[in-house]
Amino acid sequence: MEYVSTRDKSRAVSSAYAIANGIAPDGGLYCPTEFPSLSAEDWHALAKMDYKGRAAMILGRFLTDFSAEELTDFAAKAYADEKFGGANTAPVVSLADGKHLLELWHGPTCAFKDMALQILPHLLTASLRKIGEKRTACILVATSGDTGKAALDGFADVPGTKIMVYYPENGVSPMQKLQMNTQTGENVEVVAIRGNFDDAQSAVKQIFTDAATREALDRDGMMLSSANSINWGRLAPQIAYYISAYCDLLAEGKIAHGDQINICVPTGNFGNILAAYIAKQMGLPVNKFICASNRNNVLTDFFKKGGSYDKNRAFYTTASPSMDILISSNLERLLFLASGQNDKLVAELMDKLGTEGRYALTAEMFSGIAADFDAGCCDDAETAETIRALWEKEHYLADTHTAVAVRVYEDYRARTGDETPVVIASTASPFKFCRSVIEALGGSLERDDVTQLGVLEQLTGEKAPAPLAALAGKTPRFDRVVDKEAIFQTIELLKAR
Ligand SMILES: *Cc1c(COP(=O)(O)O)cnc(C)c1O
Repeated sequence: MEYVSTRDKSRAVSSAYAIANGIAPDGGLYCPTEFPSLSAEDWHALAKMDYKGRAAMILGRFLTDFSAEELTDFAAKAYADEKFGGANTAPVVSLADGKHLLELWHGPTCAFKDMALQILPHLLTASLRKIGEKRTACILVATSGDTGKAALDGFADVPGTKIMVYYPENGVSPMQKLQMNTQTGENVEVVAIRGNFDDAQSAVKQIFTDAATREALDRDGMMLSSANSINWGRLAPQIAYYISAYCDLLAEGKIAHGDQINICVPTGNFGNILAAYIAKQMGLPVNKFICASNRNNVLTDFFKKGGSYDKNRAFYTTASPSMDILISSNLERLLFLASGQNDKLVAELMDKLGTEGRYALTAEMFSGIAADFDAGCCDDAETAETIRALWEKEHYLADTHTAVAVRVYEDYRARTGDETPVVIASTASPFKFCRSVIEALGGSLERDDVTQLGVLEQLTGEKAPAPLAALAGKTPRFDRVVDKEAIFQTIELLKAR
């Protein structure tokens, strides 16, 4: 299988090359040129496998320069039972009213990012070997909160790698900040940026395309790579859990073979929902993808306004910080796929986004997307109402991101009358966003308690995940805050690691 840049498809690379390098030199994202489809026998085989087996099989269809033995080994290590709190890596929890929540947060950092970032270090170090790359891979990560910790946990002390995480100083939850700033490992650095997530992401993309920085790193035996969902190695593992969820629903008799489902995803960078879209290209029967946003509803407008994307608007800090994003990177891959791989057009649109902050699709191009997607958004008050209703009616404790998706789905169903069974991505443990969840449930916060874990435990009788409980009393190791203009200098910190 070959990969090309969304902005220039003239040069094809292997999956190992795409994963090792993260982003194409022209700023585009690597994308496969065709999609493997699953046969009836494949579905039959998948049904009998555990999560590790399913992940290895799906990855094998995309990463054709990896052997089945390698991928099986990586999946076994990444999704080891002791890391995911048991054998059921990505359980589907069905509520009484028929919604199916796909819980993706049972990994070591308690958000769905672990599903990809536990396996990415294996994929990336193997990729470096395969392409004969001897330099140290410097992984630059911009995070809205959850990717940072998951990437740090995955890459800490992995030989041949160093990792630098940039997060918006005032844009992450206290728990997320504590998780990142207490990270151990000799090869890790964490820096807070004065600015929002988009500033951090743009700054990182600037470093990636800056020839002088690359050359300077090269002289010191280093190269750049990415652990954001711009890296194909981040996206590919996420395809597996949508297919796994379908197998689980079949096994439980909740759906029959070939039945269509809807998939609703709380969306920021458009990575998670794009992985679901790719699962459909492989044969997963999906009726609608429902793209759920918080008050930063640039994607809702894109889908509702015929494909006009406009980031020139206010940026809000919300109770679902991992979705506080105005430039959704992975939409670029959707544009590439939906335009019949029109790289020139994508390059033009992305250039417009860079200079004017907006672009519009033609009606013809948008119609290809509109058939598959619906979208909606809700604010913090509606998110809180939903957390409370889920707890009171269903005894389901949802985090703020998951609650956005549940709310948007409920609005969608009421608006359209579409009763297709739905899988809703549950993307984080509620204990990662204790303050907002406690307030939504009408509880009161404990003064001087950073984590508030005990308060939420008392309020609900549910137990906080062990990795979060272990943070109590830990002293932060990193406290550096820089202006976004100073991001280039921070590369020196990484060199010194
Ligand atoms: C990252 C994240 C999202 C958004 O996912 P994207 O792939 O960026 O669209 C949603 N919820 C949580 C909890 C996250 O960490």
